[in-house]
Amino acid sequence: MPVLLNVQRALLAFRNWCRMITRSPANVQTNTIATRDEPALGWQTQLAQAIRDPRELCRRVGLEPSWLAGAERGHALFEVRVPEAYLQRIRPGDPQDPLLRQVLPRHVEDDTVAGFITDPLDEATQTPRQGVIHKYHGRVLLIASPACAINCRYCFRRHFPYQENSPSRAQWRDSLAYLRRDDSIREAILSGGDPLAANDRQLSWLVEQLADIPHLRRLRIHTRLPVVIPDRVDDALLDWLARTRLQTVVVLHINHANEIDDAVITACARLKALGVTLLNQSVLLHDINDSVDDLEALSERLFNAGILPYYLHVLDPVSGAAHFNVSDDGARRLIDELRTRLPGFLMPRLVREIPGEASKTAL
Ligand code: SF4
Repeated sequence: MPVLLNVQRALLAFRNWCRMITRSPANVQTNTIATRDEPALGWQTQLAQAIRDPRELCRRVGLEPSWLAGAERGHALFEVRVPEAYLQRIRPGDPQDPLLRQVLPRHVEDDTVAGFITDPLDEATQTPRQGVIHKYHGRVLLIASPACAINCRYCFRRHFPYQENSPSRAQWRDSLAYLRRDDSIREAILSGGDPLAANDRQLSWLVEQLADIPHLRRLRIHTRLPVVIPDRVDDALLDWLARTRLQTVVVLHINHANEIDDAVITACARLKALGVTLLNQSVLLHDINDSVDDLEALSERLFNAGILPYYLHVLDPVSGAAHFNVSDDGARRLIDELRTRLPGFLMPRLVREIPGEASKTAL
């Protein structure tokens, strides 16, 4: 009997070792980048503890009390949400900080401005299934999570009825059947909210189902979570990413170089170690990144983190965000000057999304 036990133990140890060297993202990580200490708090705790009170936000970033009334007014329209890891990158006492301006509610969000509406991309008419947006040929967007880790004041989905588009598993099966029936679809895009706000058990299941659809080739994940809570890129996430047969592209959303700190660089390195392609899309935002110096610094810092600049979007005209708008002429001037400073591969494409168009429109 002891001999049998020893054999079983040896077999178990051998099996675990095999698993470790063949599948473990942690193993990929140790071969390619430095390991780091386990975070004190897991990403879900950090998400749950994000600041949701405008008074608390103003206090933590050291704003004068005069900012509070505006913050509360904006918060009543679209609630404030800022995780601690992001807050740490904001300069205290500076209301002009480019990261703070992205998350601080303002009284101007209550203004009515001609042309700024609740659904500027007309997405409500392009949802063939609950949680599915089919706008472009060959790719379909799935709303994998209605939640975000941060609430960006300029978000074009700030009025989107996420709760109506937060499918149950039965509804997912219906969405998956939709993808399975259309063999022109080559790419599934996980979006939200932020798809990485869903837990890894759900995401792992969903991605396995997607990989089971023979005509799907690519998985694209649009997320801001690795930027605002870099600990989201943990072993559990890397595990299901490492297992999928689908080529994976992660499109991050970073608007300013100050958003990329060492923790973000480490998170990106862990994704790249799995062979994930990293791209970035930004939104051109008045008084946040609408200078050539800011855009140049952003592209340089993205590349240092292993991310390629992809799109620079002009603002979608969503109500509550008009104060972030940069004119088309202003945007073109910036891009023309940026081109004189950067190599082509660091130039983002300046685009606008127009409802009903077959692709994004270059400016
Ligand atoms: S969907 Fe993206 S841009 Fe909109 S609030 Fe969430 S993270 Fe920010």
